[in-house]
Amino acid sequence: MKTTISPIPIYDDNYVWVIDDGHYAVVVDPGLAEPVDDFLLKNKLTLCAILLTHHHWDHINGLQALYENWRCEVYGPDDDRIPAVQTIVKEGDVVHIKPLELSFTVMATPGHTTSHICFYNDDVLFCGDTLFSLGCGRMFEGTAEQFVNSLNKIKSLPAELMVYCTHEYTLSNIAFVESVLPESDAIQQKKEWAKSLRKRNQPTLPVKLKDELSLNPFLLTDSHSFQQHLNRIYNADVADEVSAFTLLRTAKDNF
Ligand code: ZN
Ligand code: FE
Repeated sequence: MKTTISPIPIYDDNYVWVIDDGHYAVVVDPGLAEPVDDFLLKNKLTLCAILLTHHHWDHINGLQALYENWRCEVYGPDDDRIPAVQTIVKEGDVVHIKPLELSFTVMATPGHTTSHICFYNDDVLFCGDTLFSLGCGRMFEGTAEQFVNSLNKIKSLPAELMVYCTHEYTLSNIAFVESVLPESDAIQQKKEWAKSLRKRNQPTLPVKLKDELSLNPFLLTDSHSFQQHLNRIYNADVADEVSAFTLLRTAKDNF
């Protein structure tokens, strides 16, 4: 069955992703209900499931109202901070969304928050605030070890996957990437591409995991030559991926 995935922009830079087949829809991280209801109504869709990656308000604020309207299935992580309407899912669980004939495997990705999860299948990855286009989420609750481990799990997925992040951060992340990676045509091309899309108010997402693997500095922390490059520009002394990640995350927080 053919499904399409559409972004609903909410707040300053969030996207609620909608997967639909023309009849049924699944939404990921509904930070608001009204724009989702409007989209469903306009496209004559029935909401059959909600996927939640983590407890932050900009990802779950629409949950209660949507649930009351639609009485749909809700899948999310084990976290008391999320309203108790959900089916709790954990690492390795497979979520079947029958009306759409879709399945997603759950991956635990602590780091941004301790209970953060991602959903993926052979084609797509919904990664919430764990991975961004050319960046990653802030480390609010987890440790650097956990975050690196989570990013390594994402790195081990098929490179052809399309990555659906929850925030439009590509352009601001590129500014940081330019400060930490050696100059490259690939980054310049990506910048022009992102600029022209944003000028037309179009999302720069999804992105191909393959491109992130070569351009996202947070996915390069295991590279010895990148560690040496970081040591040069920050006058630091990192020699492993966890300390390289910590250095990079701190630098980005203060950028
Ligand atoms: Zn978040
Ligand atoms: Fe967020």
